Amino acid sequence: MLRTNVCVVGAGPAGTVASLFLSKNKVPHILVDRAIFPREKVCGEFFDGRLQHVLNKIHPDFMQRMQEKNIIQVIRRYAFINSNLKQIVIDTPLNMTARISANRYDFDNYLLTEALKSEYVQYFDNTNISEGAVTEKGVSLSNSTKSFEIEAQAAILATGSNSPLSQKLVPQNRAKGHFLLAARGYYRNIAKPENQNRTQVYIFRQPFPYFLCLVHLPNNLATAEVCILKTVAAKHRASPESLLLNVIREHPEIKKIFANATLKGKIKGTSLSNTSGKHPISADRVLLAGSCGSNVNPLTGWGVGHAVFEAMCAVNQYTTSVKKNDFSAKAFQEYDKKIHRALGNERLFGRWADWAVMYGFTPLDFLIGFIASTPWLSRKASAFINGI
Ligand SMILES: Cc1cc2nc3c(=O)[nH]c(=O)nc-3n(C[C@H](O)[C@H](O)[C@H](O)COP(=O)(O)OP(=O)(O)OC[C@H]3O[C@@H](n4cnc5c(N)ncnc54)[C@H](O)[C@@H]3O)c2cc1C
Repeated sequence: MLRTNVCVVGAGPAGTVASLFLSKNKVPHILVDRAIFPREKVCGEFFDGRLQHVLNKIHPDFMQRMQEKNIIQVIRRYAFINSNLKQIVIDTPLNMTARISANRYDFDNYLLTEALKSEYVQYFDNTNISEGAVTEKGVSLSNSTKSFEIEAQAAILATGSNSPLSQKLVPQNRAKGHFLLAARGYYRNIAKPENQNRTQVYIFRQPFPYFLCLVHLPNNLATAEVCILKTVAAKHRASPESLLLNVIREHPEIKKIFANATLKGKIKGTSLSNTSGKHPISADRVLLAGSCGSNVNPLTGWGVGHAVFEAMCAVNQYTTSVKKNDFSAKAFQEYDKKIHRALGNERLFGRWADWAVMYGFTPLDFLIGFIASTPWLSRKASAFINGI
């Protein structure tokens, strides 16, 4: 049996950032992941400015070093494009924190490598934590055979969406079920509009509603990702993988963008859960960080930014609880309140996006067209999305 102050389960962005903050606070801890890194993660790979804000709190040069190593790339322009190719262009002003793009394979691996430089962390990979129980003395976590057991003062679970472990330890955080299916391919040499690394979200209504995101990554790579409602895919017997290949091959505009492009590796699929409501994200001795506690709609791109922000706040909560020697659910409610206060509006917007994708594809399509053809509204929409 291993004993430690904090056990962080999951070494994605939320888990590694929690580990980095624990090390910064000189807290001995254990980090565990069931995968062996580097590992792939299907994602839109376009992150909001909160990420920059959080990583800079670990070290003021953190983001700069990632940029110098070509792990991340700053993106100041993105566009929502409707089925008639009318577009709302969002520019992030220079005085505002920009969005970031990165290949998750490199990004997650870089964060983990940085986290493991610390003397305060013990890391175990290839270890699936399936069992968990909270006692008066602490929280115990183990694999199914109990050949690997940890007892800790508190646990930060960062196990990603639809995690059985987080649902077991924080049952009030209800599972949301899958509602979107996605497929992602990496391409080299896709054409850049206006020669810029511009992220583009296309809404299509034919042959049925779905959307396509194109994100330029470092090293001349780009992510092309299609998302489709699970019910629509079932009704039309459509797979997001074939939709992605078809739109690249057949859509007159998209075809041009991919004229010289080559697919790198295989197209991979995944599914997504609905955006979380105001569900509890903590319980006795347990704090949830990242998408095991709360999901986001990929249309909004707030996933990784939210995950690392929650990880930072979870470590702050742990530090406060150490001072008061109180790791109860009641004490941890402060963490829930802080997250709901800081991210509540964005979550609400995410749920509207869920709604738009589920029931309002046609109105969304028209709305984008209407806003795009009214310059004043376009400027207002851009300001709203930038939060100014
Ligand atoms: C199709 C799609 C598109 C998306 N697009 C975007 C986007 O454009 N921008 C954005 O910001 N976000 C996007 N997201 C969301 C983003 O991927 C998540 O917000 C982000 O990955 C959350 O990070 P995390 O650390 O919480 O979880 P994850 O990155 O999922 O990491 C969880 C880790 O926990 C490990 N783990 C799980 N269970 C266990 C266990 N029992 N024991 C040990 N280890 C375990 C896993 O191996 C994994 O490494 C998208 C998601 C999807 C599915």
